[in-house]
Amino acid sequence: MNETTGRPYLAIPGPSVMPEAVLRAMHRSAPNIYEGELVEMMPGLTADLCRVARTDGHVAIYISNGHGAWEAALANVVAPGEKVLVPATGRFGHGWGEIADGLGAEVDLLDFGKQAPVDMERLETALRADKSHEIKAVLATHVDTSTSIRNDIKAMRAVLDRVGHPALLMVDCIASLACDRFEMDAWGVDVMVAASQKGLMVPPGLGFVFFNSKAAEVRRGMARVSRYWDWTFRAEPEMFYQYFGGTAPTHHLYGLRTALDMIHAEGLEAVWDRHERLARAIWVACDIWGQGGPLALNVVDEAHRSHAVTSLRIGAPHGTELRAWLEREAEVTLGIGLGMAEPGDPAWHGFFRMGHMGHVNAHMVLGMLASVNTGLQALGVPHGAGALDAAAKVLAEKGNSLAAGQPNDEPVQSVGCCQDCG
Ligand SMILES: *Cc1c(COP(=O)(O)O)cnc(C)c1O
Repeated sequence: MNETTGRPYLAIPGPSVMPEAVLRAMHRSAPNIYEGELVEMMPGLTADLCRVARTDGHVAIYISNGHGAWEAALANVVAPGEKVLVPATGRFGHGWGEIADGLGAEVDLLDFGKQAPVDMERLETALRADKSHEIKAVLATHVDTSTSIRNDIKAMRAVLDRVGHPALLMVDCIASLACDRFEMDAWGVDVMVAASQKGLMVPPGLGFVFFNSKAAEVRRGMARVSRYWDWTFRAEPEMFYQYFGGTAPTHHLYGLRTALDMIHAEGLEAVWDRHERLARAIWVACDIWGQGGPLALNVVDEAHRSHAVTSLRIGAPHGTELRAWLEREAEVTLGIGLGMAEPGDPAWHGFFRMGHMGHVNAHMVLGMLASVNTGLQALGVPHGAGALDAAAKVLAEKGNSLAAGQPNDEPVQSVGCCQDCG
């Protein structure tokens, strides 16, 4: 896409759209990495990252993508031969398990398929069966980006507590951080991994591992940890270079600084609300299209749908044809179906995904939906009528604003005069 006719829109689930302000912050000459602005910026940056994760714990930053953050997290707390339990609800759950396998861990897989969330009863049974507490960690995925299933992390903590199992609860929030509500401390998460290129709106290249004091204790009990992945110095460096185990990812840090400023200026709750409203508009449109044709949301239960990515089934070859039409004719790029069928299997062409994470607003989502509607028409794929009106109705509802920093239009309760009046 060359922007000759207008702005293209990359609506895949990561990398996400980069705000102009993030790009501007990165467009600068190389900074001094020994003293000055960049060095002084770090304590505020890590504090603001922890605010997004809702934790008073620690964060280690890696020059890596999400796969690197997966490996970094495991390298600090799981030794070769130790066991991890992986409740998988899509491709990414399996992916983290494969990384653990590569590090020599023994991987117990609980596979919940491609359309269902983690079943807490099965999780409980698996943990109860582990009487000698060999499972060192549970590797959970908050939002699995392939299936768009959102798992109930708080309920997983409740299961661990009920069973009295000491395993670490480790959570992949790569697709969900700053999109779907996530409360690291309040939900009892010990380790959380994230990356820069999704809800955080920065190009791929930064991986984050957040950890609490329980996880830090487990790290201290490890016989050895790869010097490069060790989170100890990165989280509490004595020298600036130790934050990154070497040269800093200078420009990414400026981009991240700006992205965090944007998130906190809007307010994290408002960011989560915006993602939810936009997701609801998408679901409604998809439901209506599906009433008159083959399109269907992959996740049936709303309570288990991501607010950042939506996986769809439409039957082969419509998925691939629709993506091609949208990219060519509307300059909207949708995501491929990931892990839903083997590449090479004709069924592979029957899936696609919409990414709606990070820097997205009403006109982007409505434009994408209208483009899909147009593509369905152009390709002659049967679909229900009225999807766009229904999406507009969701976004037009009174009581909420989708604009950054705008209060909703409910009467504002006065604070301070009557808090105890009951
Ligand atoms: C994107 C993603 C990953 C992988 O991240 P990469 O940066 O591609 O390595 C892992 N888990 C989830 C949930 C993701 O969305």
